[in-house]
Amino acid sequence: GRTLEQLNFDNSYARLPEHWFQRKGVHPLKASHLIAFSPDVARWLDLDPCSISPDELVQRCTGDKPWSGIEPLAMKYTGHQFGVYNPDLGDGRGLLLGEVVNAKGARYDLHLKGAGQTAFSRFGDGRAVLRSSIREYLAGEAMAGLGIPTTRALCLLGSEQHTMRNGMEPCAMLLRVTPCHIRFGHFEYFFYSGQHDDLRRLADYCLERYFPQLKAEEQPYRAMYREVLERTAALVAAWQAYGFVHGVLNTDNMSLIGETFDYGPYTFLDHYEPGHVANKNDHEARYAFHKQPSIVLWNMAALAQAMLPLVERAELEAELDRFEGLYQAAYLARMKARLGLQAVDSGDQALVDQLSAIWTAQRIDHNRFLRALGEWQQGDDAQKQVLLALCSNPEPMSVWLEQYALRVQQEASSAPIRRQQMRSVNPRFVLRNYMAEEVIREAHQGDYRPLQDLLPLLRHPGDTHPGFERFAGPRPEWAESIYLTCSS
Ligand code: AMP
Ligand code: MG
Ligand code: MG
Repeated sequence: GRTLEQLNFDNSYARLPEHWFQRKGVHPLKASHLIAFSPDVARWLDLDPCSISPDELVQRCTGDKPWSGIEPLAMKYTGHQFGVYNPDLGDGRGLLLGEVVNAKGARYDLHLKGAGQTAFSRFGDGRAVLRSSIREYLAGEAMAGLGIPTTRALCLLGSEQHTMRNGMEPCAMLLRVTPCHIRFGHFEYFFYSGQHDDLRRLADYCLERYFPQLKAEEQPYRAMYREVLERTAALVAAWQAYGFVHGVLNTDNMSLIGETFDYGPYTFLDHYEPGHVANKNDHEARYAFHKQPSIVLWNMAALAQAMLPLVERAELEAELDRFEGLYQAAYLARMKARLGLQAVDSGDQALVDQLSAIWTAQRIDHNRFLRALGEWQQGDDAQKQVLLALCSNPEPMSVWLEQYALRVQQEASSAPIRRQQMRSVNPRFVLRNYMAEEVIREAHQGDYRPLQDLLPLLRHPGDTHPGFERFAGPRPEWAESIYLTCSS
């Protein structure tokens, strides 16, 4: 393992044309301290998690003792926000500090969110508050724990500095780590500003860095678009299978490598509700849970539009036409895994559709239901009662369970093996808004233990965590009133 000082920086983005970004140092955040840290992410960077000094990590991030190899910059991008093109976007409060290449050759961006104003801040203060930074940090850990592609953070820092949001709130910083900070909006910027040579150069940069195996294709740009489409369809399928509502699916929040990107007013459904809107500012319900697949398709069309100078329209349209089928197949695969079904049966889509219709009609907590289903087999009446207790009307679910039991008989695997498989994809612990709210409330009092306690549950959500059983149960009544907006 390396020490913090030995991180191997090599900043490919900083070598691109100067008008693609603004070079800008970190604006120091007063009296910062370490709140949370991810050993997994440290290992991506070849850091030995045990050798890291919290004080040194804080100084590296806040700019008191910056890494020697960094070249901080704010990226320019644009994008469609709630369906409307906004040419004035860019990193308004985050800085790409640099890129670290690990011993295996994997390259990661280190992006400090909350690092102060940039040329793209518009009316913003360049800061991030503790509340939203905790939510982003927790979400990255939770999604990783569920096996859903996501950005994560090496660390979360608190501060004694405050800024105005919902009243005065403490500031925070998050060191986001991912191979990719290229958004669909990067392509839209060069397309809509008529800088088509830069657009081609961006596509070449992305091919080289993210999709080198596609450079040898007959049509590399089309192949890249196809790869992005496939990853993105798979991503939204995972969201739908786990009840994740992103909340702000603007094209500047869409990662080119198909990771969940930019956590704001996201929600894991407590009760299955297709029309659920996570963001209280989203008055038209544009980003409601059940609309996510079609919105993501809309975003893919926006990316296709921006790539018109590189790929024939008809070819992009042919790729776009594959989205629906890719999404349906990926969703069915996720749901079959959650149901413990591996064999191929023409009735499986109907079985899934019937189940989600019951979830919808009865507002069932589908994550708890699926976890309990994995512990059931035909004849186990006690466990059947556990399942039916999650339903307000047990009749339709009893009928469905009979069908499911018949279907399970086609499986080649034994019951214990299937139970094990189902446990591995059906979490006991899901990051519900009330858990984040509790952690935030305590953090505002200076107590980070509840946050620390939650992390193992999110990172290993299928395990039993003695002492934390209440987080596997129904959400408390007060959670109904949680109010989430874009304010961050
Ligand atoms: P988001 O809604 O999080 O995707 O952010 C949209 C845009 O607003 C991005 O360009 C951000 O950089 C910018 N932004 C958000 N909050 C702030 C802030 N407090 N200061 C400056 N820019 C911000
Ligand atoms: Mg954003
Ligand atoms: Mg954001």
